[in-house]
Amino acid sequence: MDRTILIIEDEQNINDILKFSLEKEGYKTLSAFDGVRGLEMALSENPDLILLDVMLPCLYGFEVCKKVRESSQIPIIMLTAREDEVDKIIGLELGADDYITKPYSMRELTARVKANLRRSAVPIIPKAEPEGQRNIVFGDLLINVERYEVSKGGEVIDITLREFELLKFLAMQPGKIFSREKLLENVWGYEYYGDVRTVDVTIRRLREKIEDDPSMPKYIITKRGVGYYFNN
Ligand code: CA
Repeated sequence: MDRTILIIEDEQNINDILKFSLEKEGYKTLSAFDGVRGLEMALSENPDLILLDVMLPCLYGFEVCKKVRESSQIPIIMLTAREDEVDKIIGLELGADDYITKPYSMRELTARVKANLRRSAVPIIPKAEPEGQRNIVFGDLLINVERYEVSKGGEVIDITLREFELLKFLAMQPGKIFSREKLLENVWGYEYYGDVRTVDVTIRRLREKIEDDPSMPKYIITKRGVGYYFNN
């Protein structure tokens, strides 16, 4: 199956290099050179993944990301030139799945693309099987493994695939502490490349959704200096 990657990057030579490298790996590509056109293509062309530069003419990458997220859970990898942009991506909680700081090697980039596509390839179509067979229940929280669904107090929570995978991973082994590196490896599928802050961001988003008081979490607990665990 051909996967299509939308490259939103205004620098012609970088866009070309990305296009070349990804097509060599067997992907189809689409290129946009400003934010407005990029957003249009993201919504109309139905790509499988978006590479999104932060500094773009017309519409900033942050805005493009936010707008795409309003209607789509497609994986988005943000391309940033500076460390302070990384802080912004984390701080704004735009819903980007990942980010990569320039300069990056093409090997690193294609590894990230592969990992993000792999995660999103998990079928989300609910199976026509009796319910309740693979439910994980903790207090008012119900994780339906078959349906990729989480509900709290009977209300279904709007959750991304990655948040779901992370929650499921932790909840299936309650009480066990995982380092951020271990979580990256198991939930994101990176062996070497991931930035552990990605884990913190996703944990923070999850807490906003499942905890009564995200600042005093009762489900996902931080073990200072070690990592995270699910409280049973
Ligand atoms: Ca740029």
